[in-house]
Amino acid sequence: MKNISILGSTGSIGRSTIEVVRRYRDKFKIIGLSAKSNIELLLKQIEELSPEIVAVTDEETARALRKRVKVEVLSGTEGLIAVATHEKADFVLSAIVGAAGLIPTLSAIRLGKTIGLANKETLVIAGKIVTEEAKKHSARIIPVDSEHSAIFQCLENRKTSEVRRIILTASGGPFRGRSKKELKSVKVEEALRHPNWKMGAKITVDSATLMNKGLEVIEAHWLFGLSPEKIEVLIHPESIIHSMAEFTDGTILAQLSRPDMKAPIAYALSYPERLSNVVEPLDFKSLRSLTFELPDREAFPCLDLACTALKEEGTFPAVLNAANEVAVEAFLKERIGFNDIPLLIKKVLDKHQKRPCNTIEEVLEADAWARKEAEKEIRSMR
Ligand code: NAD
Ligand code: MG
Repeated sequence: MKNISILGSTGSIGRSTIEVVRRYRDKFKIIGLSAKSNIELLLKQIEELSPEIVAVTDEETARALRKRVKVEVLSGTEGLIAVATHEKADFVLSAIVGAAGLIPTLSAIRLGKTIGLANKETLVIAGKIVTEEAKKHSARIIPVDSEHSAIFQCLENRKTSEVRRIILTASGGPFRGRSKKELKSVKVEEALRHPNWKMGAKITVDSATLMNKGLEVIEAHWLFGLSPEKIEVLIHPESIIHSMAEFTDGTILAQLSRPDMKAPIAYALSYPERLSNVVEPLDFKSLRSLTFELPDREAFPCLDLACTALKEEGTFPAVLNAANEVAVEAFLKERIGFNDIPLLIKKVLDKHQKRPCNTIEEVLEADAWARKEAEKEIRSMR
């Protein structure tokens, strides 16, 4: 029996994880749950799964919840840390969105727990610290992001020195094929209508700007120890090939399945075993074709902003991420337009003076600085 804590249990990844746990109850037990605002869903999850510990964001909600359930309910960052580090939890599914996932994920790593990592922002902003701590405490990080799960499966037991490049595939999002001019007036509802995946609002907008793929390039760099030149991006609108690895002899291994996050979630949960019948098999007869194109880096500048931040290193990736979080939030609230997202991030990056990024304090300082600068820029744009 694997004991699991879920950080962000009410989100898209959190709910899919619970679906997997529900189907394989003989293998997995839920120890901890956490949520920010969907308390009604959290209540249902508590009733169904009887966790030992629960965390919510604010203390007032925690107090109200304590009156309704018997389980221990905590709040704030301490609450998230308690869920992530509960002594009974051997596996932590990290599925909070944004930089807020860093501290609880890192606290689980420092106890040597196995991490199923969906929260890519953790590696984007603090990749060096997180991977070093994981090594030091023998904590395994298993990717849940579908592209990284694909690469993880393709690279298994193979030397990194034999990898010529990896190719991260991207659906291209809802605005694939549109010019910069056409993107100027797109609406929030359009950006939230992803063609292949149903995900939380932030990552859905990131997919529309291609920032998601940029963050994934940084994530792949830290997960697989590959230099930025070895990480390529290819648009593959059908989302059937989840990513590929090319080896020095010219062989390419790819991982394919229907687009369903339950597949990489189940693989992370059960690794090194495979569960049976997680997703419907692919029907090659009904797949008319698999197509590929290069990303349009001019219409979607976020991809290059992320690749540049990775090459610049230091605090640049943390600044990129924080500015993006603020920009996406502002776009969702209709305070800025779609094309303002990359513009805003670039302005903040241009103002930034690189600093070392070897401690969590340095990461959090860069994150806070970038949020403040991004907010200033938004106000000056209006
Ligand atoms: P979501 O918005 O659906 O869910 C986020 C979860 O985190 C919710 O449970 C919410 O209550 C909690 N949360 C949000 N902000 C918080 C905060 N400040 N403090 C504590 N808890 C907070 O997001 P999602 O789509 O499930 O994505 C979660 C993470 O997984 C993101 O990092 C995303 O990039 C990554 N991811 C998601 C998918 C997907 O298919 N949804 C695929 C790959 C990677
Ligand atoms: Mg992905």
